Amino acid sequence: MSERAVVDRLTCVLCPVGCELEVRRTSADEADAAGSGTGKTRKTGPGEPRGSGTAGLEVRGNQCEKGVPFAVEEVLRPKRNLATSVPVKGTAAIMVSVRLSATVPREMIFPILAEIAKLRPETPVRRGQVLIANVLGTGVDVVATRTLSGFDPLFHPRKSQAMPTRFKA
Ligand code: SF4
Repeated sequence: MSERAVVDRLTCVLCPVGCELEVRRTSADEADAAGSGTGKTRKTGPGEPRGSGTAGLEVRGNQCEKGVPFAVEEVLRPKRNLATSVPVKGTAAIMVSVRLSATVPREMIFPILAEIAKLRPETPVRRGQVLIANVLGTGVDVVATRTLSGFDPLFHPRKSQAMPTRFKA
């Protein structure tokens, strides 16, 4: 049996087990690696890593079936979320943290970051508030992950440097 080309090696991040996955092209579908297959599962013998073929790919090393769609999506259509923070309007020192409401194609991360960099939300901002709806037509929103009622003095840079009372001599 000829050794099939390894397309990718990756770690499954869906649970703490962290299986080391190996993705190979199946010989029958080698030219179809970019397709969207229906997903087939192959039974394996004792001691043999579990493997499944889908979209012209075979995944090995997964201890459960969740690893297969994870690996196939990672190879064919990788997606990511992002979390960052932006200053509220009128100050560069008070930041509100934001993230995406869902994952987006990996190649959209930098264009979306450029859109987020233009943001200067006005306070008050509440956690979960949509700051950019359907960013760049992805169907995903940029949402605040922190409630900020105004220019909270606790987050003023000079006041936040003050030593907390319990540590004063
Ligand atoms: S393949 Fe299954 S057991 Fe392994 S890390 Fe992914 S979710 Fe966890």
